[in-house]
Amino acid sequence: MKKGYNIAIDGPAGAGKSTIARRIAKELNFIYVDTGAMYRAMALYLIRKGMEPADTKGIAGACREAEISIKYQDGEQVVLLDGENVNAYLRTEEVGNMASYSSMVPEVREKLVELQQKLAASADVVMDGRDIGTVVLPGADVKVYLTASSATRAKRRYLELQEKGETADLAVIEQDIIDRDYRDMHREHSPLRQAEDAVLVDSSDLTIEEVVERIKSLCG
Ligand code: C5P
Repeated sequence: MKKGYNIAIDGPAGAGKSTIARRIAKELNFIYVDTGAMYRAMALYLIRKGMEPADTKGIAGACREAEISIKYQDGEQVVLLDGENVNAYLRTEEVGNMASYSSMVPEVREKLVELQQKLAASADVVMDGRDIGTVVLPGADVKVYLTASSATRAKRRYLELQEKGETADLAVIEQDIIDRDYRDMHREHSPLRQAEDAVLVDSSDLTIEEVVERIKSLCG
Protein backbone atom coordinates (compact mmCIF):
# COMPACT_ATOMS: atom_id res chain seq x y z
CA MET A 1 0.00 0.00 0.00
CA LYS A 2 1.40 3.42 -0.95
CA LYS A 3 2.07 5.62 2.05
CA GLY A 4 0.13 8.87 2.11
CA TYR A 5 1.78 12.31 2.41
CA ASN A 6 2.02 12.93 6.15
CA ILE A 7 2.23 16.28 7.98
CA ALA A 8 2.85 15.95 11.73
CA ILE A 9 2.06 18.84 14.10
CA ASP A 10 2.95 18.53 17.77
CA GLY A 11 2.91 21.02 20.59
CA PRO A 12 1.47 21.93 23.98
CA ALA A 13 -2.20 22.53 24.81
CA GLY A 14 -3.70 25.64 23.25
CA ALA A 15 -0.92 26.35 20.74
CA GLY A 16 -3.50 26.42 17.96
CA LYS A 17 -2.69 22.99 16.53
CA SER A 18 -6.24 21.96 15.68
CA THR A 19 -7.22 25.29 14.09
CA ILE A 20 -4.06 25.30 11.98
CA ALA A 21 -4.17 21.59 11.09
CA ARG A 22 -7.82 21.80 10.07
CA ARG A 23 -7.09 24.80 7.81
CA ILE A 24 -4.11 23.16 6.15
CA ALA A 25 -6.06 19.94 5.57
CA LYS A 26 -8.85 21.90 3.91
CA GLU A 27 -6.51 23.87 1.68
CA LEU A 28 -4.47 20.84 0.61
CA ASN A 29 -7.44 18.47 0.47
CA PHE A 30 -5.88 16.23 3.12
CA ILE A 31 -7.61 14.41 5.98
CA TYR A 32 -7.27 16.07 9.40
CA VAL A 33 -6.60 13.57 12.18
CA ASP A 34 -7.15 15.00 15.67
CA THR A 35 -5.41 12.50 17.97
CA GLY A 36 -6.31 14.51 21.09
CA ALA A 37 -9.96 13.69 20.36
CA MET A 38 -9.10 9.98 20.44
CA TYR A 39 -7.44 10.34 23.86
CA ARG A 40 -10.47 12.33 24.98
CA ALA A 41 -12.87 9.62 23.74
CA MET A 42 -10.92 7.04 25.72
CA ALA A 43 -11.07 9.37 28.75
CA LEU A 44 -14.84 9.67 28.34
CA TYR A 45 -15.11 5.89 28.28
CA LEU A 46 -13.06 5.65 31.49
CA ILE A 47 -15.14 8.36 33.23
CA ARG A 48 -18.31 6.53 32.28
CA LYS A 49 -16.81 3.36 33.76
CA GLY A 50 -16.24 5.28 37.01
CA MET A 51 -12.42 5.05 36.84
CA GLU A 52 -10.25 7.44 38.88
CA PRO A 53 -7.46 9.29 36.98
CA ALA A 54 -4.81 7.87 39.33
CA ASP A 55 -5.94 4.23 38.90
CA THR A 56 -3.28 3.31 36.33
CA LYS A 57 -3.83 -0.44 36.67
CA GLY A 58 -7.60 -0.16 36.34
CA ILE A 59 -7.22 2.09 33.28
CA ALA A 60 -4.74 -0.33 31.66
CA GLY A 61 -7.32 -3.11 31.97
CA ALA A 62 -10.45 -1.14 31.14
CA CYS A 63 -9.05 0.52 27.99
CA ARG A 64 -8.86 -2.84 26.21
CA GLU A 65 -12.65 -3.03 26.11
CA ALA A 66 -13.19 0.40 24.51
CA GLU A 67 -14.01 0.36 20.79
CA ILE A 68 -12.75 3.63 19.34
CA SER A 69 -12.87 4.41 15.64
CA ILE A 70 -13.24 7.48 13.48
CA LYS A 71 -15.15 8.40 10.39
CA TYR A 72 -15.46 11.57 8.33
CA GLN A 73 -18.67 13.49 7.85
CA ASP A 74 -18.61 16.58 5.62
CA GLY A 75 -14.83 16.64 6.05
CA GLU A 76 -15.06 16.68 9.87
CA GLN A 77 -13.62 13.93 12.06
CA VAL A 78 -16.29 12.07 14.02
CA VAL A 79 -15.08 9.91 16.92
CA LEU A 80 -17.12 6.79 17.58
CA LEU A 81 -17.02 5.19 21.01
CA ASP A 82 -18.64 1.76 20.88
CA GLY A 83 -20.45 2.97 17.77
CA GLU A 84 -21.76 6.21 19.38
CA ASN A 85 -20.80 9.63 17.98
CA VAL A 86 -19.22 11.26 21.07
CA ASN A 87 -17.85 14.48 19.51
CA ALA A 88 -20.23 16.65 21.56
CA TYR A 89 -18.85 15.34 24.89
CA LEU A 90 -15.11 15.62 24.26
CA ARG A 91 -14.22 19.29 24.78
CA THR A 92 -15.03 19.61 28.50
CA GLU A 93 -12.44 20.34 31.21
CA GLU A 94 -13.37 17.08 32.98
CA VAL A 95 -12.65 14.96 29.91
CA GLY A 96 -9.47 16.94 29.08
CA ASN A 97 -8.21 16.44 32.58
CA MET A 98 -8.87 12.69 32.57
CA ALA A 99 -7.20 12.44 29.13
CA SER A 100 -4.12 14.14 30.52
CA TYR A 101 -3.79 11.29 33.07
CA SER A 102 -5.04 8.29 31.09
CA SER A 103 -2.73 9.17 28.17
CA MET A 104 0.21 8.32 30.45
CA VAL A 105 -0.85 4.66 30.47
CA PRO A 106 1.10 2.63 27.85
CA GLU A 107 -1.86 0.33 27.04
CA VAL A 108 -3.97 3.39 26.13
CA ARG A 109 -1.22 4.77 23.91
CA GLU A 110 -0.54 1.46 22.14
CA LYS A 111 -4.14 1.07 21.16
CA LEU A 112 -4.57 4.62 19.83
CA VAL A 113 -1.17 4.82 18.10
CA GLU A 114 -2.05 1.71 16.09
CA LEU A 115 -5.25 3.35 14.87
CA GLN A 116 -3.39 6.58 14.01
CA GLN A 117 -0.67 4.76 12.04
CA LYS A 118 -3.27 2.86 10.02
CA LEU A 119 -5.00 6.10 9.05
CA ALA A 120 -1.75 7.75 7.98
CA ALA A 121 -0.66 4.76 5.92
CA SER A 122 -3.66 4.92 3.65
CA ALA A 123 -4.27 8.65 3.13
CA ASP A 124 -2.73 12.11 2.92
CA VAL A 125 -3.07 13.40 6.48
CA VAL A 126 -2.37 16.37 8.70
CA MET A 127 -2.17 14.81 12.16
CA ASP A 128 -1.83 16.77 15.37
CA GLY A 129 -0.99 15.65 18.90
CA ARG A 130 1.96 15.35 21.27
CA ASP A 131 4.00 12.43 19.90
CA ILE A 132 3.22 12.42 16.19
CA GLY A 133 6.65 13.46 14.88
CA THR A 134 8.53 11.44 17.50
CA VAL A 135 6.57 8.16 17.83
CA VAL A 136 3.47 7.83 15.65
CA LEU A 137 4.90 9.02 12.30
CA PRO A 138 8.68 9.28 12.70
CA GLY A 139 8.98 9.22 8.89
CA ALA A 140 6.47 12.06 8.31
CA ASP A 141 7.19 14.22 5.26
CA VAL A 142 6.85 17.46 7.27
CA LYS A 143 7.15 17.87 11.02
CA VAL A 144 6.22 20.99 12.93
CA TYR A 145 6.49 21.79 16.62
CA LEU A 146 3.90 24.50 17.19
CA THR A 147 4.07 26.44 20.42
CA ALA A 148 3.19 29.77 22.04
CA SER A 149 3.74 31.29 25.48
CA SER A 150 1.51 29.91 28.26
CA ALA A 151 0.00 33.40 28.72
CA THR A 152 -0.99 33.57 25.03
CA ARG A 153 -2.40 30.05 25.12
CA ALA A 154 -4.42 30.75 28.27
CA LYS A 155 -5.82 33.96 26.76
CA ARG A 156 -6.95 32.10 23.63
CA ARG A 157 -8.67 29.41 25.70
CA TYR A 158 -10.30 32.10 27.87
CA LEU A 159 -11.73 33.89 24.80
CA GLU A 160 -12.92 30.57 23.37
CA LEU A 161 -14.84 29.79 26.59
CA GLN A 162 -16.25 33.32 26.74
CA GLU A 163 -17.50 32.96 23.19
CA LYS A 164 -19.34 29.80 24.24
CA GLY A 165 -20.94 31.78 27.06
CA GLU A 166 -19.03 29.91 29.78
CA THR A 167 -17.52 31.74 32.74
CA ALA A 168 -13.79 31.33 33.16
CA ASP A 169 -10.91 32.56 35.30
CA LEU A 170 -7.81 33.44 33.29
CA ALA A 171 -5.36 32.64 36.11
CA VAL A 172 -6.96 29.23 36.71
CA ILE A 173 -6.84 28.42 32.99
CA GLU A 174 -3.16 29.37 32.74
CA GLN A 175 -2.26 27.24 35.77
CA ASP A 176 -4.23 24.33 34.30
CA ILE A 177 -2.33 24.67 31.01
CA ILE A 178 1.01 24.77 32.84
CA ASP A 179 0.12 21.64 34.85
CA ARG A 180 -1.09 19.77 31.76
CA ASP A 181 2.10 20.64 29.83
CA TYR A 182 4.19 19.46 32.75
CA ARG A 183 2.44 16.06 32.78
CA ASP A 184 2.71 15.73 28.97
CA MET A 185 6.42 16.66 28.94
CA HIS A 186 7.50 14.59 31.92
CA ARG A 187 5.61 11.34 31.47
CA GLU A 188 7.62 8.17 30.95
CA HIS A 189 5.96 7.07 27.71
CA SER A 190 6.04 9.27 24.60
CA PRO A 191 6.56 12.60 26.39
CA LEU A 192 5.86 15.79 24.47
CA ARG A 193 9.08 17.02 22.90
CA GLN A 194 10.22 18.54 19.64
CA ALA A 195 11.46 15.88 17.18
CA GLU A 196 15.03 16.57 16.06
CA ASP A 197 13.91 17.13 12.49
CA ALA A 198 10.81 19.20 13.36
CA VAL A 199 10.56 22.88 12.48
CA LEU A 200 9.77 25.10 15.48
CA VAL A 201 6.95 27.59 14.91
CA ASP A 202 6.05 30.00 17.74
CA SER A 203 2.55 31.31 17.09
CA SER A 204 2.51 33.89 19.94
CA ASP A 205 2.85 36.83 17.57
CA LEU A 206 1.59 35.28 14.34
CA THR A 207 -1.90 35.25 12.82
CA ILE A 208 -3.54 31.97 11.86
CA GLU A 209 -2.93 32.79 8.18
CA GLU A 210 0.77 33.42 8.81
CA VAL A 211 1.18 30.07 10.57
CA VAL A 212 -0.73 28.23 7.82
CA GLU A 213 1.44 29.83 5.11
CA ARG A 214 4.63 29.03 7.02
CA ILE A 215 3.70 25.33 7.28
CA LYS A 216 2.47 25.10 3.70
CA SER A 217 5.81 26.54 2.56
CA LEU A 218 7.51 23.51 4.16
CA CYS A 219 5.50 21.07 2.00
CA GLY A 220 7.65 20.55 -1.09
O1 C5P B 1 -4.93 18.05 22.33
P1 C5P B 1 -5.96 17.75 23.38
O2 C5P B 1 -6.05 18.77 24.47
O3 C5P B 1 -7.31 17.42 22.80
O4 C5P B 1 -5.45 16.38 24.06
C1 C5P B 1 -5.98 15.91 25.27
C2 C5P B 1 -4.89 15.17 26.04
O5 C5P B 1 -4.56 13.96 25.35
C3 C5P B 1 -3.58 15.94 26.18
O6 C5P B 1 -3.50 16.72 27.36
C4 C5P B 1 -2.52 14.85 26.19
O7 C5P B 1 -2.26 14.44 27.51
C5 C5P B 1 -3.17 13.70 25.46
N1 C5P B 1 -2.61 13.47 24.13
C6 C5P B 1 -1.49 12.67 24.02
N2 C5P B 1 -0.97 12.37 22.80
C7 C5P B 1 -1.54 12.85 21.69
C8 C5P B 1 -2.67 13.69 21.76
C9 C5P B 1 -3.18 14.00 23.00
O8 C5P B 1 -0.95 12.23 25.03
N3 C5P B 1 -1.03 12.50 20.50
